[in-house]
Amino acid sequence: MQSLCAESAPQSASDERYDGLVRLARAHFAVRAVLLTRLVEGQARVWACAGLSADEAWRLGHFGDPHSHGEGLTLVSDLQQDVAWRAQAAAAGVRFYAASPLLDDDGTALGLFCLLDDQPRDLDAAQRDALRQFACLAATAFEHDRVEASLRDSERRMALAIEGSGTGVWDRNVPAGEIYYSRGWKALLGYAEEDVSNRIEESYTRLHPDDLAYVKATMQAHLDQHTPFYQVEHRIRRKDGSYMWVSSRGKVVERDAEGRPLRMIGTTTDITELRGMSERLQQTVELLTGLTNEIPGMVFQFRRLADGSASFPYVSAGSREIYGLTPQQMANGAIEAIRALIHPDDMPRYLAALEASASSLMPWQLEYRVILPGQGVRWRQGSAHPQRQADGAVIWHGFITDITERKRIEVELQLLATTDFLTQLPNRRHFMQQLAAELARVQRASEPSAAILMCDLDHFKAINDRWGHAVGDQALKHFADILAGHIRRNDCAGRMGGEEFAVLLSDADLDKARVFAQRLQQRLADLPLLQDGERVPLTISIGITAMDARDSAVESVLSRSDMALYRAKQAGRNRIECG
Ligand code: GH3
Ligand code: MG
Ligand code: MG
Repeated sequence: MQSLCAESAPQSASDERYDGLVRLARAHFAVRAVLLTRLVEGQARVWACAGLSADEAWRLGHFGDPHSHGEGLTLVSDLQQDVAWRAQAAAAGVRFYAASPLLDDDGTALGLFCLLDDQPRDLDAAQRDALRQFACLAATAFEHDRVEASLRDSERRMALAIEGSGTGVWDRNVPAGEIYYSRGWKALLGYAEEDVSNRIEESYTRLHPDDLAYVKATMQAHLDQHTPFYQVEHRIRRKDGSYMWVSSRGKVVERDAEGRPLRMIGTTTDITELRGMSERLQQTVELLTGLTNEIPGMVFQFRRLADGSASFPYVSAGSREIYGLTPQQMANGAIEAIRALIHPDDMPRYLAALEASASSLMPWQLEYRVILPGQGVRWRQGSAHPQRQADGAVIWHGFITDITERKRIEVELQLLATTDFLTQLPNRRHFMQQLAAELARVQRASEPSAAILMCDLDHFKAINDRWGHAVGDQALKHFADILAGHIRRNDCAGRMGGEEFAVLLSDADLDKARVFAQRLQQRLADLPLLQDGERVPLTISIGITAMDARDSAVESVLSRSDMALYRAKQAGRNRIECG
């Protein structure tokens, strides 16, 4: 052991307690010296001594090593008589030694309280007890020091943590109108210790004028117990005059019997960074919204939960154009409102497409009609990509556009592609498609039949030759109009080319077809085409054939009717032949 009393004794004022204690013990026991040692990191150190010079304390220090003692009192009346201690005692010039260990609550040794004397002596029971009491007092003081030191440490750590987080602390005495700021609080805003007074009125002068009323109202609400705590974001002036965004939080920690606030403690945290981030985020959202609002149609996010409930977390301004609903209305559960707008004929397709996309996670793509108040039927085209989320919900991102105009053009093109321009009747291609569809129907039905009539204007070339091509055209239109006005809704008449027309009569046998053909000839006769007051001679020859389930192709049906027509021509024209 190499401790020296002068070196190892702590310097702080609180350690006078130990000096006092050892002096008191020396007087109490009337011994030459008292030594208090303490184990510091496993090493015994002289903590206090009385009646010893620094040199002596160093030399006698080994007497106070708890490692060489038991848990009880050590008492050696005459060291010279004791084999174990004799040599050391002689060197130190000491004859009497008594020591009591300092134990903590767990019985662990903290140090030793030792009495030393030049003369052999003894301790009676009361003195032994007193020695134990002194040791106990010293142990309690050691323990107290330890707890205090660890508290100081944790306090320092807390202070460091608060400072490091860009937070300052304040403590307000409400009735006195005073507020105390931590050093960290002042440092946060660049103020020196003396720059900031304790007056509460001064604190308000540092607030941004635009935030003052709100901050005061929020504070008052808490002081009046309307809120469980005070929390507000506002700007506060730094020493350099610039403003910093902070979050102020606090709570009244003491109230009087009437509930009036006495003391309030709080923190001020720098949120400039956070604020900047949220502003940048806001700008990004605004940019995105601005862009999506510029896109024709409606950009949307659609979310369907596992339980089937659905919502539009986001829609662009185009929802007004697409569904006649504001984005706000769309956000507030417009699912039913939208379903009510969808054309009843398209509803099954609409629902099925959504279901298919949700289960297969394939894109949703659909053209459908809506019926909008004041606008009538409008075409919509939707396209969206689904994604499944962890909670089982499916979320689609996509857009819906107005394709009414495109659909109108498509219908026009379709009509152009299927209609003969001169007569406005279905053209050959379209008639053949209708014929094929009818053949399929006839093949499916049990008592099926349909009749095909092939009509050809007689001596048409002569009309062209006599009146010119334009009149020929008029004659073709004249007959086409009579034909169109003569057929039923389920029948179909088409221009096959030149002055040749075909008629498909559903649910008709040869007899019915013959009657139809006769009436057609009669009608043509009854409604003559006049040219320069002269009647243009218009008659038709008609070949009829029946189509039934035995027919395998429309071409063979047509060739049969052609042959019948040929016979009608051969037999003198303006006739009807069946075959
Ligand atoms: P048939 O009684 O044997 O049927 O005699 P046809 O003169 O009616 O028959 P043909 O096949 O000899 O002549 C048909 C004529 O129809 C020839 C052609 O120039 C004319 N033609 C074909 N398409 C048109 C058209 O779009 N407009 C006009 N004006 N004439 C057409
Ligand atoms: Mg002809
Ligand atoms: Mg012909």
